Order: sequence, then C-alpha cells, then structure tokens
Amino acid sequence: MTTTTLPTYDEAIAGFEPVIGLETHVELGTNTKMFCGCPTDFGGEPNTRVCPVCLGLPGSLPVANKAAIEATIRIGLALNCSIATWCRFARKNYFYPDMPKNFQISQYDEPLCVDGYLDVEVDGKTVRIGIERVHLEEDTGKTLHVGGATGRIHGATESLVDYNRAGIPLVEIVTKPVPGAGALAPEVARAYVTELREVIRGLGVSDVRMEEGSLRCDVNTSLNRPGEEWGTRTETKNVNSLRSVERAVRSEIIRQSAVLESGGRIIQETRHFSEETGDTRPGRSKETATDYRYFPEPDLVPLAPDPAWVEELKAALPEPPRERRKRIQEAWGLSDLDMQSVVNAGAVELIEETVAAGATAAAARKWWLGELARRANEAGIDLASVGATPAQVAELQTLVDGGKLNDKLARVVLEGVVAGEGSPTAVMEARGLAVVSDTGALTAAVDEAIAANPDVAAKVRDGKVAAAGALVGAVMKTTKGQADAKTVRELILERLGAG
Ligand SMILES: [Zn+2]
Repeated sequence: MTTTTLPTYDEAIAGFEPVIGLETHVELGTNTKMFCGCPTDFGGEPNTRVCPVCLGLPGSLPVANKAAIEATIRIGLALNCSIATWCRFARKNYFYPDMPKNFQISQYDEPLCVDGYLDVEVDGKTVRIGIERVHLEEDTGKTLHVGGATGRIHGATESLVDYNRAGIPLVEIVTKPVPGAGALAPEVARAYVTELREVIRGLGVSDVRMEEGSLRCDVNTSLNRPGEEWGTRTETKNVNSLRSVERAVRSEIIRQSAVLESGGRIIQETRHFSEETGDTRPGRSKETATDYRYFPEPDLVPLAPDPAWVEELKAALPEPPRERRKRIQEAWGLSDLDMQSVVNAGAVELIEETVAAGATAAAARKWWLGELARRANEAGIDLASVGATPAQVAELQTLVDGGKLNDKLARVVLEGVVAGEGSPTAVMEARGLAVVSDTGALTAAVDEAIAANPDVAAKVRDGKVAAAGALVGAVMKTTKGQADAKTVRELILERLGAG
C-alpha cells in the first residue's frame, strides 16, 4: 500500500492514455425465469420463488425461455449486432454458495449477438463504442452476511442465501476496448452506460434500475504511455449508479498512474468500487476463461433463430433514443448544450412525461435540472429515484402558474413531496404554504410594517421609492415568505401614496 499523496486527475492523465471497456449485466423483465417457470419480480420472501430447476436439484432439466431469447436478440439488433443463426449455451463452472448447480448456464464462444456498436455524444462529439458481444445467461442468487458491522462476510456470524434471483434471465453486453478517449474516458464510460440504458428501456425488456441491480456495470480500465502497448487492465465491480461509473474510471486512472509513476506494476485483478470513499479496493485476482472449464450445455438444444423472425424483430424496433432525442430537442427548442445537460441528468423521459402531464417544456426542465437534480446529486442517486414523479412536478407548476405558490414556497413544497408527504397540493395545504393572496391580511401586514418603520415610510412618501424594499422585506418576514413580493410592493406604494 503506497502512502504517497495521489496526483490530481489532470496530473494523472497528463502522462498516460487510458483504455476502457464495459461489461454490463441487464436483468430481463420476463414474467418467468430463464430455464423454469418461477416468477421473476423483485422482492418477496427469501426462497419463495424457487423450484427444482433453479435450485439445481438432481434430475431437473432446464428449458430455455423464448421471451428472453427474443429480448436478447432485440437488444443485439438495437446495438447493430449480427445475430447468430446457430449458437449454444455453455456451462461456466465455479463454486459459490449463491449458485445452487455449481455452474452457471451462460454462453461462451458462441454468443447470440456479435460485433455491433453504439454511438454516444460526449462533449459535442460522437464517439462510437464497439460492441464485442451480447449473450444470454442466468443470474445467481444473493448471499446475505449477518452479524458483521458492514454487511460483508468479514466479521459476520452467519451467511444466508436467497435463491429468488437464481435463474432470472441476464443479458451480458460487452464492449470492445475503447482507446482514444483521453481525459474524457470517465465521461465516455458514463455516456455509454446512460445511452445503453436508454436503448434497453426503449425496448421495454428491462426496467434497467441500477439501484435495484437490474442493470449492473463492471468497468475495465488500463493506462499506457503514448505510443506504447496497452497496459494491464483492472475490472471494477459494484458500480451502482451512472455517477459511480464516471467516478470509478476517474479514481482508477488516478490510482494506476500513481502506481506506474512510482515504477510499480498494475496487477490484473477485480476491484470493488466504494460509494462512500469514491475509490476502488482490491478484490480477488481475476480468473481466466480456463478456470471456468466451459463446455457446451448438454441439457439444452442449440439455439437457431429463424432469420425471417430476426428480420421481423428488426423491422419492429422502436425509434432509437438518439434520433428520438433529436426530434424532442427541436420540439422543445433547446440548444445542443441544453439538450446535453438534460441527457446527462437522465431527464429526457422525466421531462417528456412532465410535459405530457401538462407542464411546459421550460418549466419541466427548470424543476428537473434545478432543484431535483441538486437533491439527486446530494443524495448520490439517479434523478428518477429522487422521490418526485413527473405528474407531481406538473402539478407543482400548475400551483405556481395559478399564483397559489411563489418560487420559494414551491421549493419548500417540493421538499415535502420528495420526503413522501403527498402530492404538491396536499403538502401545500398540510403545511399551510399557500401564497397569502387575501388582500385584507396583506394590508394588515403592510400597515404593521409601515407603523414599525416610520422613518422608511417617510422616505417613500417623499418619493424615494427604492426605500420601499425594506418594508417589502418586513412584510415577507411577518408572512413567512408566503406573500407575493410584487403584490406587497404595490400595496405599500399605494398606502403611502407613492404609487
Ligand atoms: Zn425455478
């Protein structure tokens, strides 16, 4: 462990070229598991969604789920891949308690989809990310370590296994190595996962929720000096948000550059990303393919998708998210830069749904990219999980447009909405936050402010209208910010005969 101070990112990247690669696992939203009829929905009491097949009991036989194969082919087609006319599942052998068969049914040298690409926008430029393969496999169960402080196996008194997730169809999408991104490598990695998520969500084959683990990302990073061969790569796991994808690449570039600058060697290993510290810690040393003793799965027939069926699926693909965004950008009248910030914030659909619920595009964008993005950022979560729905944001804006809330009060109401106190109207009423529009109550507050500040009032009467600001401030204070400042000002000037 080195104790020297780490370089800044700019210092780290100055002497090296990064090569990144991403492996993404997507849990498919099929009704049933990959090789049996067990349900797949998230949650549920442990070990209640299991059967002899997904528990790997002797004598049980798997049957492939056609809906999962179709979803995988559609993902492959949306990523511009070639679809295999014939391929097989393979056994990946390793022992781990969350895997009841002691092997995972996966695909090895015969993946369903190969050689595609996905274009992403970074810093106003299009970067083409090559897709090596898209294959289908089954998910593992989950282990739960009890008794330790951190929920990790270290220090735990017992470990429990839940097989509800075992056998859920899982699609693995592997990029080709991505060189040439330079200092933008962290942003490229994030843009890729963001775009991939959009593509898959658009296909409707998964809910792609990173925090629930239905989209999981491993990030490979290596560094080399300009003109030299690519360096040894590390694989960072546990990257559970878009923001973390970017942070993981950044921190790995900093760490590796420090090791290389001090004459050290990068070890090929799996590392774990920590959300708390934002850096990576070593895990196990990386297995190689031979460790898994892959062989064709003898209990399943080969897959041979009919080319006519694949053509049908291709013809029925939805509009690619990138083209859809271009269309939306024009409709909303946004500059490239504004649209980019909407995309970066993961807000395209949220704004679209807010507009559909009745808000203008400008108002929807203001809330999602302003107050709500700030909260999501602070909490380190994705915008979609921030706790407000598009319908609620549209309702909030209706209250502002109707004069019931001013901007400041609307922010307080939004805080209540995010905290789960109910709809904007419910929060406004429960907390008594509506703008005081009752002129009688306002006039009383204005008179009180005038009486309490005779010197200021005299100045205003003498025509020094700018001095009225102090009186407006006093009224806003007694009404706890619930008055409309413009109305208050008008009332003051009227009372003092200076209007
Ligand atoms: Zn089952």
